[in-house]
Amino acid sequence: MDIHEYQAKEILAGYGVPVPRGGLAYSPEQAAYRAREIGGNKWVVKAQVHTGGRGKAGGVKVCGNEHEVYDAADEMFGKRLVTHQTGPEGKIVYRVYVEGAVNILKEIYLGIVLDRKTERVMVVASASGGMEIEDIAASKPDTLIRSVVEPAVGMQAFQAREIAFGLGIPGEHVQKAVSLIMGCYKALESLDASMVEINPLVVTEEGVIALDAKMTFDDNALFRHPSVAELRDKSQEDSRETRAADRGLSYVGLTGNIGCIVNGAGLAMATMDMIKLAGGEPANFLDIGGGATPDRVAKAFRLVMSDDNVQAILVNIFAGINRCDWVAEGIVQALEKNPVHVPLVVRLAGTHVEEGRRILARSGLPIIRANTLAEAAERAVQAWKNDVSLKQPKAVA
Ligand code: ADP
Ligand code: MG
Repeated sequence: MDIHEYQAKEILAGYGVPVPRGGLAYSPEQAAYRAREIGGNKWVVKAQVHTGGRGKAGGVKVCGNEHEVYDAADEMFGKRLVTHQTGPEGKIVYRVYVEGAVNILKEIYLGIVLDRKTERVMVVASASGGMEIEDIAASKPDTLIRSVVEPAVGMQAFQAREIAFGLGIPGEHVQKAVSLIMGCYKALESLDASMVEINPLVVTEEGVIALDAKMTFDDNALFRHPSVAELRDKSQEDSRETRAADRGLSYVGLTGNIGCIVNGAGLAMATMDMIKLAGGEPANFLDIGGGATPDRVAKAFRLVMSDDNVQAILVNIFAGINRCDWVAEGIVQALEKNPVHVPLVVRLAGTHVEEGRRILARSGLPIIRANTLAEAAERAVQAWKNDVSLKQPKAVA
């Protein structure tokens, strides 16, 4: 789970990480009021959306008076911010953060991540901040500092000092940088975050300060941190994926037009490969998991059908723990309540397959059946093509 910059800054400040003074606003009036509260004569208005690269997309504006703060916020609210991370659909701005502008001497990149290769927490830092880590890694790999944390002892002060020296932090600020780095690590460790990223971490006349902050949390550990869990902002997530997660299903939205209902992530991959091989494009895949009850299958159907891009559905179940007869019941229940108006191909294999097939056949519903995965994919693509050409308005001669 991702959280907003202002939320990450509030958490990190609690671990002793210095951040600029700031305040959240839900309206331009409130933004101007925040600027007055913060004081000073220069502010930065920042769109709160779950993405980096806001600066380049018009989501970060420096302002010299309250009117400019008002206008900058007014411009941002309701806007769909498109960055290289959001994809073309962008993310809508519902909140802005106003903070005091800082005089920057030097921008640094600091990331603390879980490194799968070393199976350790790793600090990644670079003196070329302000750029995305991918760009730094591509264009200035020699500036990257990596430091692995031993889990038995946690991050050590000498380690943080080494990083600070490596980044060329001026001597009088090294101690402050050490406590900033240690604070970020403590936050990551105590809250089960999988990433803390400060980009940029800046050096000023007075010391060091986090100008941007990003935190990502391990979903599986959220139950131990209710105060973190409540920071979730569903407006920033794919609504289809959130709705699925709320129903205990895992859904991944894609851009094609064949909806896939499967059990197991591996089967989902294989199903999508076969659809592509047959000349189609998957619209999504929904994993109903093991032990799918008729009720869950019915929910899965409603969810897949709520995607307007879906022009055909392929259900591919390989039942081990699952039972084909339950899945078949679910399909029948779902279709009786909400008939689908697109072709539906079902392939069942495994436990109680005969009973499952009988249930589908007895239902009298217009279901295209298939025995193998290849057959199912071909039939789904074929049925989709036929259906689309049938629905196309005939050209007037
Ligand atoms: P993003 O990474 O989404 O583009 P940042 O918060 O990193 O957003 O802001 C982009 C740039 O704007 C920073 O690299 C920094 O140069 C500038 N900036 C951000 N916040 C401030 C601030 N409080 N004072 C001065 N400059 C800032
Ligand atoms: Mg940034």
